[in-house]
Amino acid sequence: MTLFDSAAFEGHEGVHAFFDPASGLKAIVAVHSTARGPAAGGCRMWPYASAEAALEDALRLSRAMSYKNAMADLELGGGKAVVIGDPRTAKTPALFEAFGAAVDSLGGRYWTAEDVGVSPADLAHARKRSTFVAGLDHHPAASGDPSPVTAEGVFRGVRLCVARALGKELSQVTVAIQGVGHVGAYLAEKLHAAGARLIIADVNAAAVEAVAARTGAQVVPPDAICEAEADVFAPCALGGAISARTLPRLKAKVIAGGANNQLSGPEAGRALFEKGLLYAPDYVINGGGIINVAGEIRAIARGEAFDPAWVAAKLDRLTQTLEEVLDRSLSEARPTHEIADEMARERLRR
Ligand code: NAD
Repeated sequence: MTLFDSAAFEGHEGVHAFFDPASGLKAIVAVHSTARGPAAGGCRMWPYASAEAALEDALRLSRAMSYKNAMADLELGGGKAVVIGDPRTAKTPALFEAFGAAVDSLGGRYWTAEDVGVSPADLAHARKRSTFVAGLDHHPAASGDPSPVTAEGVFRGVRLCVARALGKELSQVTVAIQGVGHVGAYLAEKLHAAGARLIIADVNAAAVEAVAARTGAQVVPPDAICEAEADVFAPCALGGAISARTLPRLKAKVIAGGANNQLSGPEAGRALFEKGLLYAPDYVINGGGIINVAGEIRAIARGEAFDPAWVAAKLDRLTQTLEEVLDRSLSEARPTHEIADEMARERLRR
């Protein structure tokens, strides 16, 4: 595959490769769109098997950020950085300073933040060389852990879908949560407080035990969660929860959770629609986290402190956008993921 043949390259404004021999930095920054504002998306550090694999990941993730930021009504475009290396062994302050210099060389076309393998401590080193770094600790603009905000958006989305698909309130339903890490645990607590019955699973036994103790949730093995007797299935672990393997086993009528890339592919979204299940598109319902980060970018850019009220207003707007997706899906008799993609592309064109 060459770069220009890759389906993932389509629509990108630019792709930037950085190599710093002194620190060993090998990084790619993909800028999908700056139509709505500077491109924003986290930096992932991963031991990619090849530069091609890193490039493919950067391209796929940056386009997804354009869609997510547009649907969260942010004045931000989509971009993503990947650093090639093992985050357990290859991190040095010099490497992240070199990454900061790379980000800075783009002159504000791309803002970076945390993603898999990258921590606030790493970003503090990048910040020494660039302003265009969010996800900071100990800074007036710092936005803190985005997970509670993500979970609040997901909670509202679950409530909306339950009302739409089942005509019920949360106190009348059972929700099966796959993965009770950061987002899943906060979501469990919010649903429990609203009176929902919970079934949970996680590969981490300590995580399930802690959440079950706080919420009275029933615990099932990880393999059994997709076929739990529940009204809602909330994927909050890794991607691909809805696939040819899990689709026939689903009992829930609503799929609404915080994980990214829940569908194994667009055909899985169509299959959900044809089975009459309501799917809340992942990058719409889980947009609370990027809204929180956007609050930090906004604060840094303006030289102000982080403003939780701005984040709260954007989160309200996000729930309305999800409602619009559901309305259009119903009136046009088309799957929600197709409507969301179309709305995101419309917003990018505008
Ligand atoms: P996390 O790592 O804290 O939690 C994920 C949990 O899933 C872990 O407890 C892990 O043990 C569990 N898990 C992994 N494989 C599993 C399996 N097969 N079955 C059951 N459980 C399994 O991550 P997080 O921050 O809570 O993010 C969860 C998902 O939400 C991810 O897909 C992430 O990309 C997405 N997301 C997170 C945020 C955020 O603000 N943290 C924002 C948007 C999207």
